Amino acid sequence: MLTISKELEQELQQKIQSNSGVIPKTLLDSLMAKFDIEIKQLLQSLLPIAARFSIAPISNFNVGAIAYSSDSECAYIGSNLEFNHAALCLVVHAEQSAINTAWLNGETHISHIAITDAPCGHCRQFINEVKLSEQIEILLPNTNTSLSELLPHSFGPADLGNETRLLDVSAPKTTVPKLPISSELLKHYHASYAPYSGNKSAVEIVTAQHGNFYGRCAENVAYNPSLSPLQSALSQMALSGLSLDKVEVVEITLVETEQYKNQSGVADVVLESFTGKYEIKKAYVS
Ligand SMILES: [Zn+2]
Repeated sequence: MLTISKELEQELQQKIQSNSGVIPKTLLDSLMAKFDIEIKQLLQSLLPIAARFSIAPISNFNVGAIAYSSDSECAYIGSNLEFNHAALCLVVHAEQSAINTAWLNGETHISHIAITDAPCGHCRQFINEVKLSEQIEILLPNTNTSLSELLPHSFGPADLGNETRLLDVSAPKTTVPKLPISSELLKHYHASYAPYSGNKSAVEIVTAQHGNFYGRCAENVAYNPSLSPLQSALSQMALSGLSLDKVEVVEITLVETEQYKNQSGVADVVLESFTGKYEIKKAYVS
């Protein structure tokens, strides 16, 4: 594997951070030309940088993942995110984080996922929710494999009668109900993936100096590997080198579906794991 100098590693980390975890095609192209390597090798070489975004106060086990689309030729960083003093089931895994970055940035296709370590069963199931997951190539430190090989005889969305998949494009609704929330948050609400509970949901974190962060729920057919909208937004913050503890937060808003709401308690528990006290504004779409 290519060894990247400390200077270049820092420069790339800064670029990725200012791009909330996205590595555009132009940057990937220039790195492939500079080192005369192909994309798979490059993705694997960039993994140590992805792992630097990890926040793992419980395990101290830093995981990095990079999702890549051979259609858009862009790459998306992910890292694990643990919350002190909150249930372990709330941890965001690096592979979930990378897919979340791709999805929130409008990506509709993932062809490869490079990971610093073999994906756990939870992540194999999470990846299985993605559109055309059976074709995704998994790049590990010592071998390249496929999701089909890592998750044979799988339980997938179709087993619960769900014909949609994560990253499928669904047209956002244009009708805007009268809610005290931003239009951007409403867009994320409509783009969220909740085929099992029906509870579409999204979160907006407004900071004083670092812009706004958004997250959406990404449900899973096995239910437990689902990602809540607050976890999704906090993962995006981590990839920008930030956390709630380190910035001035102006407002946090959760929007979910009145009829099926199930995210309010989860958001409260995650926020309680931070030392600061945060009020969360809650809005419901009826
Ligand atoms: Zn995992």
